This record gives sequence, structure tokens and C-alpha cells, in this order.
Amino acid sequence: MRVFQSIGEFRAALVADRAAGRFPGLVPTMGYLHDGHASLIRAARSQCDVVAVSIFVNPLQFGPAEDLAAYPRDMDRDLAVCEAEGADYVLAPGVEEMYPEPAPVRVSAGRLGEVLCGASRPGHFDGVATVVAKLFNIAGPCRAYFGRKDAQQLVVIRQMARALDFPVEVVGCPTVREAGGVAMSSRNVYLSDGERGAAAVLYKALVEASGLVESGERDGARIAALMGERISSEPLTRPDYAACVDPAALEDVARIEGPVLLAVAAWFGGARLIDNTTATPRYGAPSGG
Ligand code: AMP
Repeated sequence: MRVFQSIGEFRAALVADRAAGRFPGLVPTMGYLHDGHASLIRAARSQCDVVAVSIFVNPLQFGPAEDLAAYPRDMDRDLAVCEAEGADYVLAPGVEEMYPEPAPVRVSAGRLGEVLCGASRPGHFDGVATVVAKLFNIAGPCRAYFGRKDAQQLVVIRQMARALDFPVEVVGCPTVREAGGVAMSSRNVYLSDGERGAAAVLYKALVEASGLVESGERDGARIAALMGERISSEPLTRPDYAACVDPAALEDVARIEGPVLLAVAAWFGGARLIDNTTATPRYGAPSGG
């Protein structure tokens, strides 16, 4: 496994690979790798000839009051995970290498970046879109793997890749969960034992709500309200949002007639956690008026 700090050297390696007929897979991460990240590396390993993992805590996607300085980091362990999962390359550039100028040019995520998480994290998805655009330009033609755990991020990146004609196939991968249902996240390290137990309320609310959608509930607002109530009933939680939205447009769904994205976010102590699932009405829309 080769570890690059230099963007130029990493790019040259991928250019050489493609010239030799080896198609690359890219797994962008912010490090502190867990089984969710490992599942992306495994997906890339099974579908691509060369697997590159990027590890970069992107300052542009953190708000001024957010946890950039405290964000967990462990490069030695991350490199061991990448090696164990069979990655060929790790790109781990410093901030100076990624942003030699203070990022005067940014990609806007537009309206998709303003709803849901974007409402409480202004500028976050512009920061995500900017760093992913850079990574796509650095890597060149490839498949790029992202987790559906960050469903809004995936929608923003798919839209960006289409809108800006990146020669990149964006691949979404399933959410990996801990035994109690909590979605794996680097930020789970912030949780106390009590908060970790409480965090399962997000998944429980999603499971209950998706069950209702599948068994015929068609009122999107009622589904969103139910998830909000369940999350609020957990004493160690400060809810942010609970929403039932269109999976592509991320707009609230009033009447559920096809697949919907159920998305939730809440604070557990100092950690803001998110989770989501897709729910599909089992019998489709009722016919007639
Ligand atoms: P992060 O390091 O948190 O920026 O995440 C890097 C990539 O891993 C993103 O595409 C995430 O969606 C994905 N990811 C994070 N947590 C999970 C998880 N629990 N299951 C699947 N993918 C995940």
C-alpha cells in the first residue's frame, strides 16, 4: 500500500494505472475509520482494479462553532485498516496541500444543501461539494463510494457529479450499524455509555416509521411528527429534525405514494448524530379518488 501526501504524485499513480488498464475506485473519508468506512473499501475492492482511500478532515465543511479541532484522528490505525481491507493507495494530504489558497473558489450545493442538515449547518454542503469536486478532479475517471448513512450528502454529490460532468460513477453503499442499531460514525466516540444507549432512539424511530409507511400510512407529516415524538421522548436527546422527504428532491412529502426518505438528526451531549432509511409503501398508491 502506498501512502501519498502529494496530490501530484497520487494523480500520477492513477493516470499510470488507467493507462495500464486498471480502473480505480475512490473512497473519500475524514478518517478515524470504522466498519462503515471498511464496507466502502470492500465494495470498491470487489468492483475496481485499484482502490484509493482519501483521508482528509475538511475544514471547509465545519462551521465556526463545530468540532473541527476536536474531530477524532488516528492516522496509524487508519492506515492499518486500509491495509487490512486491501487498499492500494491512501491519499492523506495536509490542509496546505489541499487548500494552498484559502479556498477562494467553492462549489455551491444549491437548495439541496440548505434543507435538513443544511438548515442547522449553513455552508456545510458547499464545503462537502468543494472537497469532493477537488477529489474527483484529482482522481480522474473512477468509481467513487459513499455511504447512504449520509443520505443528503449522497444526493448533493450525485447532483454535483451530474451537473458538472465529472467522469465519476457515484456508488451508494448501505449503512453499517452497531449491534443496538446505532449507525456507525466517527462521532460516536464522543458519546458516554448512557448517550450511546440513548442514540438507539434514532434507529428505533426510523424502524417504527418505515413499518407504518410499509403498512399503509400515507400522511408524510404524520410520519415525521411520530419520529419527532419518539426522539423527543428520550431524555438524553435534543432533537434537530425528523423529516419524511422525496429521496431525490429532499422536499417534504405530503402524501406518500412511492419511496420516501425518512431522515432524523439529534444531539446527544456534544455529538450531533444523523440517521435515515428509505421506506416504500408495500401496496403502492390506492387506486381511484
Ligand atoms: P466520514 O469519514 O464520516 O466523512 O465518512 C466517509 C464516508 O463513509 C462517507 O461516504 C460516509 O457516508 C461513509 N460512512 C460513514 N459512516 C457510515 C456507516 N455507518 N455506514 C456506511 N457508510 C458510512
